Amino acid sequence: MAGVEQLLRVLALEEERKFADTAVIGGLDRYLERFTEETHLPKGHRFCQVLAALPSGGYRGLHPVQRRRVVEELRKALDQARPSASGGDVPSARSAAHRVLPMNSKPIAQAKASSPKRKTAARSVNAAAAIAPASSPPTAPIGLDSPVSTLKVRRSDEEKLKRIGVRTAEDVLFHFPHRHIDYSKTRIISDLVPGEEQSVLATVWSVGQGNIGPRKATEAVIGDASGMLRVIWWGQTYLARQLRQGVQMAFSGKVTAFRGRIQMENPECEFLDEEPLNTRRVVPVYPSTEGLSQRTLRRLAYTVVSSLAGSVNDSLPKGMRERLELPPAAEAIRMFHFPNSSEEVEPARRRFAVEELLCVELGVVKRRREWQAGGTAPRLKLPEPALNGFTKSLPFNLTEAQKRAIREVLADIGLALPMTRLLEGDVGAGKTAVAVATLLAAVASGFQSALMAPTEILAEQHFRTVQNLLQPGRSSQSQLLALAGPGFFVLQPPFLDRPLRLALLTGSLKASEKESIQESVKRGDVDIVVGTHALLQEGLEFERLGLVVIDEQHRFGVMQRSALREKGLNSHMLVMTATPIPRTLALTVYGDLDITLLDETPPGRPPVKTFLQSARRRGEAYDFVRKKVSEGRQAYIICPLVEESETVAARAAVQEFERLSRDVFPDLRLGLLHGRMASGEKDATMHAFRDGEVQILVSTAVVEVGVDVPNAIVILIEGADRFGLAQLHQFRGRVRRSTEQAYCLLLSDSDSREAQERLRIMRDTDDGFKLAEEDLRLRGPGEYFGTRQSGLPDLKVAKLTDVGLIELARAEAARLLDEDPELVRPENAAIRAKAAEWWSRAVAEAN
Ligand code: ADP
Ligand code: MG
Repeated sequence: MAGVEQLLRVLALEEERKFADTAVIGGLDRYLERFTEETHLPKGHRFCQVLAALPSGGYRGLHPVQRRRVVEELRKALDQARPSASGGDVPSARSAAHRVLPMNSKPIAQAKASSPKRKTAARSVNAAAAIAPASSPPTAPIGLDSPVSTLKVRRSDEEKLKRIGVRTAEDVLFHFPHRHIDYSKTRIISDLVPGEEQSVLATVWSVGQGNIGPRKATEAVIGDASGMLRVIWWGQTYLARQLRQGVQMAFSGKVTAFRGRIQMENPECEFLDEEPLNTRRVVPVYPSTEGLSQRTLRRLAYTVVSSLAGSVNDSLPKGMRERLELPPAAEAIRMFHFPNSSEEVEPARRRFAVEELLCVELGVVKRRREWQAGGTAPRLKLPEPALNGFTKSLPFNLTEAQKRAIREVLADIGLALPMTRLLEGDVGAGKTAVAVATLLAAVASGFQSALMAPTEILAEQHFRTVQNLLQPGRSSQSQLLALAGPGFFVLQPPFLDRPLRLALLTGSLKASEKESIQESVKRGDVDIVVGTHALLQEGLEFERLGLVVIDEQHRFGVMQRSALREKGLNSHMLVMTATPIPRTLALTVYGDLDITLLDETPPGRPPVKTFLQSARRRGEAYDFVRKKVSEGRQAYIICPLVEESETVAARAAVQEFERLSRDVFPDLRLGLLHGRMASGEKDATMHAFRDGEVQILVSTAVVEVGVDVPNAIVILIEGADRFGLAQLHQFRGRVRRSTEQAYCLLLSDSDSREAQERLRIMRDTDDGFKLAEEDLRLRGPGEYFGTRQSGLPDLKVAKLTDVGLIELARAEAARLLDEDPELVRPENAAIRAKAAEWWSRAVAEAN
């Protein structure tokens, strides 16, 4: 019944009615279906292919814009079937279809691809990309230091480039891709395989936009001689305006299968007369920022790499580069941005990773050598009887590890080379006793020393510990008598031949008190000053400083150490940390330090029993806490990590505290600790907890470091999956403080397999090192340390987990500095400049 002419009239009407699907009663879908049936069109026909490519909702399910495309496609397919096209009589629709739509006909659109009209379309898209095509060279000659504004970059993109640190052409060269996608496999449509990244060269048959389900999308049908393919770009509706029907393009992306048919989702596409940058090759993917497209970055990189890679000065000394078999800079830059195959990426990445790590290592190795060579430190000695007296007076026997550490440190400070040593030991390993032995050596040798803690709570705690360890068994009465003024103590340890003056310097002292302590320190009237990092950095002066001990070092990075050193302190420096330091970090972030390991915890402390509990069974965990508290013990409850800000975290903690006080433990005494509290409030809470007035301490992550309340034996951690393993281990360390069995309850409502796996590792491992390695691997150094605590700028190419490369760079740095300590040889000038630049960035970022 329905002939071609009639269908064409229907389609014309449909257009007139603005594609409302009202041209025929019952809708176009049924009409078209009948038409194909009655004309017996074979499946391979262009007409049928257009219909087959309709989504499952059919024509009716399309947005009017998409419908327009389909109608246009259908009309084109039919146009050639019209009698006039072939001359002769009015044929039946059936024969017409057979004659002019032969099975293997080249799609019409493809034939049109080279028409002049198509060129216009192509150019208009290029104009939208607003970057000159590679074929037209930039107008003015550009150099490495040309600002990006001279590189034909859109004004609005200039700002965004600045945001990712790209200001000059040289920056473009060194803004390396963080990964690549291999689109080098070009196939015909019928050979596409679902699940792989592939490319096709095909003609756009139709394109439109609208909603697919609830989501906005651009949808196109593309085809080549072998078949057709549905392509969807989710959300990218602007594409509908850029793609033109009838144009041949390259499409690269992952092929997926949907309802048994293959399709491409969000592919990259490109005109065939353009340089292949986004398709048909191993495509770079760059670190970017909101609104700055990969296309823009690729185009920019391409322009700069092709004109300037050759003028880059190779930073690696030639001899080293050749010995390590690394590619020269110019070639490596090209290989990194636009590799000819995916095999080229790794050698290029490796080359720049080595270069970057070499900069780091030259800095830390040089710094370390300078500290050790520059200036002489006082030789600090602890006479044997005094050491023995100290050891004997302790309320416990030192562990073998503690004895070893004390020997090592005493040997070091007995020399005139300034010691720069890291004392690393798990929470509860007893680092403080080692530190006190060291402080004692300074006192015995007539020098002043300082013990610095990251927080006031810790400074105070140290102040007390130092008193207890130096004069055990002191009654509170004698404590009062010994008080020589606010923050002062005079002790008479039995094993010293003179009294020892101890001062505590914290921010909560009155200004006048602070001043008076500072004065005494300057006059030399104080032997040991205990305080916070901040106060000691604020220009405290000493009469004769011999030793600085810095506790909980992971809050005190390379740059801070350096600053401390540079204040003309030719003293010895001992830093202490409970953060297990994986080998890679020992070579980089801590590369300026010698390391002493305290690998033994005092005996008689059973490992903390760790339980994993679904948050739905929180009630049982609370029952357990209540039971232990009723036995006279204390507990910590750690609030879930709230990422946004300290303020938000504080608010969440306040709410949790109120909820627990009101609904769960109304009969118990709860305390609250968070980072937004004034230090006085914090101290008050901590004192109350230490003295047992507070039974349950509700806290944010601030409790993490160093707090020592042996009677607290339960720690309940909410949202445990959101903390890093190393951090969880630190929390757990809070309760590993006595011979009593302690408990750690990890609550989590995450169903993620990965989260559960991590928590299981936590439950089953008590080895801080293993947990640290795991954490570093899973989360990377930034997270491992918390934000910006490593004291190093982020590495761009190298990874701080790459032991092999770091060791290599370390060895190369040492070798280079052996041969040429100041790097004055011409062949080393480039790497010297590069390292200097790297470290000045480190200084800038640390401030
Ligand atoms: P950390 O290494 O975490 O700083 P501390 O120095 O605070 O550890 O010591 C933790 C607890 O262990 C303290 O209460 C301390 O008195 C105690 N302690 C230290 N050394 C020993 C030891 N050898 N035997 C028993 N207890 C010890
Ligand atoms: Mg400690």
